[in-house]
Amino acid sequence: MAEIKIQSIRGMNDLLPTESAIWQQIEKIVKGVLNSYGYNEIRTPIVEDTALFKRAVGEVTDIVEKEMYTFNDRNDESITLRPELTAGCVRAGIEHGLFYNQEQRLWYLGPAFRYEKPQKGRYRQFHQFGVEVFGLEGPNIDAEIILLTARFWKALGIEKHTTLQLNSIGSVAARGNYRKALVEFLEQHKDKLDEDCLRRMYTNPLRVLDSKNPIIQELLNEAPQLFDYLDEESKDHFKRLCYLLDQAGIHYEINQRLVRGLDYYNRTVFEWVTTSLGAQGTVCGGGRYDGLVSQLGGQATPAIGFAMGVERLVLLVQAVNPSLSASDAIDIYMVSSGNDETIAIAQNVAEQLRDAMPDKRIMTHYGTSNFKKQFAKADKLGAKIAVIIGENEATKQTVTIKNLQTGEQVEVAKQDAASSCLAIIK
Ligand code: ATP
Ligand code: MG
Repeated sequence: MAEIKIQSIRGMNDLLPTESAIWQQIEKIVKGVLNSYGYNEIRTPIVEDTALFKRAVGEVTDIVEKEMYTFNDRNDESITLRPELTAGCVRAGIEHGLFYNQEQRLWYLGPAFRYEKPQKGRYRQFHQFGVEVFGLEGPNIDAEIILLTARFWKALGIEKHTTLQLNSIGSVAARGNYRKALVEFLEQHKDKLDEDCLRRMYTNPLRVLDSKNPIIQELLNEAPQLFDYLDEESKDHFKRLCYLLDQAGIHYEINQRLVRGLDYYNRTVFEWVTTSLGAQGTVCGGGRYDGLVSQLGGQATPAIGFAMGVERLVLLVQAVNPSLSASDAIDIYMVSSGNDETIAIAQNVAEQLRDAMPDKRIMTHYGTSNFKKQFAKADKLGAKIAVIIGENEATKQTVTIKNLQTGEQVEVAKQDAASSCLAIIK
């Protein structure tokens, strides 16, 4: 009986060589922007103690209720594949004393796992690029990380396709008061609520605000407004943030129903959304979480961060700025008659070329094809130059440099190969 073929886990994708160039290009641009703001990378493990996410993300969030990959390890400890990276950053910061009287401006990149229904822009293993800043409480840092995200879009050429939604959800106490008022309102309109909203009404009523159901959205027009319940400090924080964004020329829409899914946020919350990706339109989401460090056992430390989904960024770049795709063309193709002697020379010259031009892509032909086939291969790979070592060249200690764009070729001494190539490609 034939064995059943083993396939990848549903919702977990291979990144094939044809796509890796665009990923690398996007990662390079994003890292360049992060570096230009002086942020440093942090890497934390992919698995953490399950209790970390329950406590940080919140027991009644979608993530903890139904999306986590949770297992018992061989020692019967409950561990979870991280569904997001903030909790791990905070855990690591507390564990290593990163928050004592110091600011931290950090970024991360890595996979996250959520058991969701796979579809375009939504996967079970996906990747997040994110930032976490600790130790700064003013609205100025809120403005800076929004400026930084705006710079990403510009550098990626997608700035015309993203809009910023902004809100303040106030202090925990203010939100508590609002929550009470909202639940009272919802109780009076139970007959109009769908199943999701009925379930959330008591567990996580603020989530009702971002229901996609149009009947609910209409009902909410009469509901109490979060802004009316904000504490004065949060109102002032938000006003100052809006001022800084106005001064920086950043356009935003205030969306009073933007609350974000996770428990740990307070005050500023924001999302960058696009209409170019269909249903999965949130590219980046973030906010302030001043209570989380102490909630996880550290000393109280103000914090703000955001995360963006790399897959959605890739889809958006491919949709609206396909020219960004980096070329994976080869620059120089080493052609030889293919016996051990000429191959050895080809390899040796290729090493010299890599010393002289480390950013060029230089590939050596192996196998027994004739010269014509090797040139055809060089063309197919997009090479601009072929460096040829035939029997003749081997005897004379020379190489022939062929400009594949013009067809011109010159024979030069082996040690002059690099300068001849550099004269053709800078
Ligand atoms: P959504 O409303 O789309 O479910 P979310 O609020 O659950 O998003 P966050 O927890 O804020 O998402 O994660 C930050 C970003 O990570 C999202 O804005 C999105 O770009 C990306 N993201 C979240 N879940 C997935 C997923 N399952 N697959 C791909 N990207 C995702
Ligand atoms: Mg989600």
